[in-house]
Amino acid sequence: MILGKYSFGVGDRFGHQGKAQLQAIINASEQGVNITPVWNKSHREHTIIKTTPASVRAEADEAVRALGWNDSYYVDADHIGLNNIDLFIDSSDFFTLDVADFIGKAADENDVSAFTNKYKKYIGSLAIPGIDETFDITEEQINGIARKVLLAIEEAGKIYRHIAEAKGAGNFITEVSMDETDKPQTPVEMLFILAAVADEGIPAQTIAPKFTGRFNKGVDYVGDVAQFAKEFEEDLAVIAFAIRKFGLPQDLKLSVHSGSDKFSIYEPMNKALKKFDAGLHIKTAGTTWLEELIGLALAAPDGLSIAKRAYAGALSRFDELCAPYATVIDIEKDKLPSPQVVDRWSGDEFAGALRHDQSCDRYDPNFRQLLHVAYKIAVEMGEVYTNALERHEEIIAQNVTENIYERHIKPIFME
Ligand SMILES: [Zn+2]
Repeated sequence: MILGKYSFGVGDRFGHQGKAQLQAIINASEQGVNITPVWNKSHREHTIIKTTPASVRAEADEAVRALGWNDSYYVDADHIGLNNIDLFIDSSDFFTLDVADFIGKAADENDVSAFTNKYKKYIGSLAIPGIDETFDITEEQINGIARKVLLAIEEAGKIYRHIAEAKGAGNFITEVSMDETDKPQTPVEMLFILAAVADEGIPAQTIAPKFTGRFNKGVDYVGDVAQFAKEFEEDLAVIAFAIRKFGLPQDLKLSVHSGSDKFSIYEPMNKALKKFDAGLHIKTAGTTWLEELIGLALAAPDGLSIAKRAYAGALSRFDELCAPYATVIDIEKDKLPSPQVVDRWSGDEFAGALRHDQSCDRYDPNFRQLLHVAYKIAVEMGEVYTNALERHEEIIAQNVTENIYERHIKPIFME
């Protein structure tokens, strides 16, 4: 199975927007840009929303059928580990192996020294095409990296083989993710991580490193854009080098997680992809639910009142909703509008505060981030919410498609 040069991961909490999401991919293909759609959902998200992996498969299949999509598409078991993989085996054909928890834990000493010996030939000055500086590699450095990452990659190998036994090798896409760690990986770490991935026999097609800066949910990148651009280009260079040196899959590419709305890094990403003629998987999630709220707000009066109820509920349960996301949101609580103020808003005013348009005066990143993590409130509304999605399908779909196509796909892959 081939993922294709460009692929785009979408998340859909309530499972109603598959067609609207696919429409954005179709819009790109009509402009000559081929992107493989991937529907991703993690175990945590399934647990909160009370959905099953099979529902994501059904949604993807139905969207593809309804819109007559003839190219490939995938269903991604996002951030899974050995403890929950079995739930996803039947429905998924893309697996994001999350081994961040194992980074920094000690591997077997024999494995560490075997790895260090095997890669001794890289000791000394190493030049990687596409990176200006040369690296001085020492034995201690290789040994230190092995100590830090080998156990994690061995764990990825176990998960991979478990899936391969059930589905057959070659019948699914494998991603290795290490984005949920404290520090970005250096180019040299990335190189030896990829060596370990190859040694484990994992035919990884995407790898998700941690980048510098904050990737807060649903809002723009916060950090040093120039440093990000440097890391991104270095990762592209290291991947191309590692494919040749370690015999990894030819189509191995970088995956950027929490990719929703990172507008300020899209331009450097776009440039780097062209410069290196490289592929990319961008994983977005959570913002389709915000487009649902925007569509509902514009569908006054009943849609707007549901959107307002969602906000009032979110504000009253601020701590509970924000706690699980503490490291990936930055909300200035005292700047949030009160429910009484929001209650007086028109649909356009609500949509303007929520929509991620930085040129709009009404745009409110605090309001947006709180609603981003507040989908549990809509889960609790049950059919009141999902019936409203169905009643106002058209206006919601327009917003979902436009968000993905205009604000994400175009700046990253086109323009
Ligand atoms: Zn991730």
